[in-house]
Amino acid sequence: MLIALLVVLLFNQSYSQIPGSYFAVHCEVGSETRLFPTLQQLVASANSHNIPLTIEFTPPWAESILADSLKLKLIRQWQAEGHEIAAHHHATYYNDGWDGYTNDPSYISDPKYKGDMQDYLALLNRLAGDYPLLTGGITAASMDWPGDNMQYRTTGFAITDAKSEPILETLNSHEHYFIGYGALVRNDLLDSAENLYGLTKENEVFGLVTHVMNFTPDREQQAIEAWFEFAEGKNNKTVTQIMSDRGQGPVVSIVTMEPEKLNKKLFFSNSTVRYQTSSSGTTIFNIFDILGRKTKIYENQK
Ligand SMILES: [Zn+2]
Repeated sequence: MLIALLVVLLFNQSYSQIPGSYFAVHCEVGSETRLFPTLQQLVASANSHNIPLTIEFTPPWAESILADSLKLKLIRQWQAEGHEIAAHHHATYYNDGWDGYTNDPSYISDPKYKGDMQDYLALLNRLAGDYPLLTGGITAASMDWPGDNMQYRTTGFAITDAKSEPILETLNSHEHYFIGYGALVRNDLLDSAENLYGLTKENEVFGLVTHVMNFTPDREQQAIEAWFEFAEGKNNKTVTQIMSDRGQGPVVSIVTMEPEKLNKKLFFSNSTVRYQTSSSGTTIFNIFDILGRKTKIYENQK
């Protein structure tokens, strides 16, 4: 029997007065071993200012962490602390910095080729574990946007890209939002970042990005720590939290169906859920939000 249940979600569309602000970190190809301790220091610094990070990992980082139970334990701890595990992709044009994944079929015979973007997603989803992988800084996105459950494409570089209103777009027939970030990669950009933050309207989002390698004393550690001090207490969230609070994206992420215990992760905003069941009786839908809280229960009488 096929039953359709219309799930209408009541989004909370009211924005808080202070715009949501996020801080993303890029974990670059080739630095996965050398810079893991630096990433730990960066997370500790963010924690000391109550700033949840959106950490975007490239595949070599994901592989190296998945192969090391101590590192993986740390990632799980960071997730529990409120940091978001997200994805970062270096496309083929990075040459030596390419992460080995692409949807471009002309690279299949390349010795550096590791798989297509579905393979990429499978790897990054393992790193995210039980948490949904929703955010990605994906270069060459018109070719390589992986779709599926990925909802938020972070993009930008100029410091003025930090202030933006998320826009719905479609790439590779996958609908998602793109959200700007400005790169805090020079100490003298801190003032501009602070000024721009002050100009951000309540319907906009403010985002900064840096690389792990920038968090060293001879690079921009000072500017990054100064930003954390400036931003402390100012509505800091992860990309997923900001978008979820704006009502843009999958407020509902996990549906469990009883009595068949058909536990399935679904990602949708306004959706018709179709399901098939062989047993008679009442079907109960438990719906959880992104953060794992049970938000709604639907009963469907057969
Ligand atoms: Zn990068």
